[in-house]
Amino acid sequence: MELVEDLAGEDRQRASDRLVAMGEAAVGPVLAVLCDERSPVEWSTAALVLQRIGEPALEPLVGALAAAATTEVARRCSSTLGGLRVADGGRFAALLSHPAPRVRESAASALQDLRADVEPYLPALAGVLDDPDEAVRRRARLAIEAAGWLAVPMLREIRRGTGRRRTAALTTLADVGGWDALDEADRRAVARLIEIKAAREAPAPMHLCGSWFAVPTADQPAVLDAFGLAEPRAVTMRLGGSAWTRDHHGWSSVPHAECRRTYVTPALDGWTLVFGKIPAVAHAAPADSETVWRDEVRARCAALSARFGAAHCYGASCGDGWTAWCLAEDGEVIRFYDAFEPGDQTGEPHPAEAGLRLPHISAFPMEAFEGVPREGIAERFREIQRTLPAQAHATTLAARLSVDPSALGPHTTVAGRAVLALTPCGLAEPSTPGALAI
Ligand SMILES: [Zn+2]
Repeated sequence: MELVEDLAGEDRQRASDRLVAMGEAAVGPVLAVLCDERSPVEWSTAALVLQRIGEPALEPLVGALAAAATTEVARRCSSTLGGLRVADGGRFAALLSHPAPRVRESAASALQDLRADVEPYLPALAGVLDDPDEAVRRRARLAIEAAGWLAVPMLREIRRGTGRRRTAALTTLADVGGWDALDEADRRAVARLIEIKAAREAPAPMHLCGSWFAVPTADQPAVLDAFGLAEPRAVTMRLGGSAWTRDHHGWSSVPHAECRRTYVTPALDGWTLVFGKIPAVAHAAPADSETVWRDEVRARCAALSARFGAAHCYGASCGDGWTAWCLAEDGEVIRFYDAFEPGDQTGEPHPAEAGLRLPHISAFPMEAFEGVPREGIAERFREIQRTLPAQAHATTLAARLSVDPSALGPHTTVAGRAVLALTPCGLAEPSTPGALAI
């Protein structure tokens, strides 16, 4: 069909419009191009035509997806199907019982795009929460989660029933509304599970991204008070770390998503560690947040050290080379260093930095090669490399001065309980959504 060939040419817009006007008659030839990996037509151009044709393209697309010989063709069909213009989600809901897992997954994905409008199809989605295919189960959970609180009564109903769907329903409830979405029985069940796991939990290395405070005390209530935290709830260390990582990486778009709660560790080798975004930093405009962070950290470390004798703050990033530390004693900051703001240091290098190279200082300064003849440069380079001091990092400093959270293990002494506590933002907001590792 000539018009279909025109989809690869200059005139593709006009060709697209005419094919869309033809409707059902154009579906076969356009679908053939979509599924042809060697066609000169961009598959996204063909996809758009089918999506605009809508309803008449549904059955042929489903057939092509179920029969796709390569993952690329399956991907194209599935992506096209997800954006197909159909009158209502009922057509997709019906596909949730299709024999091909790919088709069920695409249907759930299309329903997920309906967000709150997915409500009439929630029972159909609940029906695949125990689908034999993991990808289908995951999509169904996401589609139900997209409905938000509208889905809570149905999920609680599933929790009161039997079968494998109960576990999926619990995760989805937590994803929708956190603790608030759970009914009394589930709250008791989760609390019981936390107690069982906490009783035999050994400290484990934490994934570090963000900043944390370290205070040399086992007096947890005093630490909670000093940080203005309320309503501590006993959790596992794993759950506390999981909440911090989740909040820090901003997977939620609700207000105060990052500053509602704080993880306070048990005393680890005599130090209580505090993980959570400082509300003033979370509320600052993105352009100011780093300055606000440096001011807040200095002020807090100084104040904490006046009360506890010493206080440290450490920073690390899992995405780039950022690291920082702030050390305070008896009410005064004695050292502050931020690898990305080396001009803003406080104090002399701390004795714990001895033998280490600060990250902002180049390992290979230009003067190291001054007067070295051309043929000697490689040798000089190797010589410097051999004698290069290790780069200082918050975790190195923490290991020397307090306790390194990335190296926790059975050797770490633990006293007391891990808790998640609420910041003033958390007291004013509902519980943070998101299922956490227990
Ligand atoms: Zn806040």
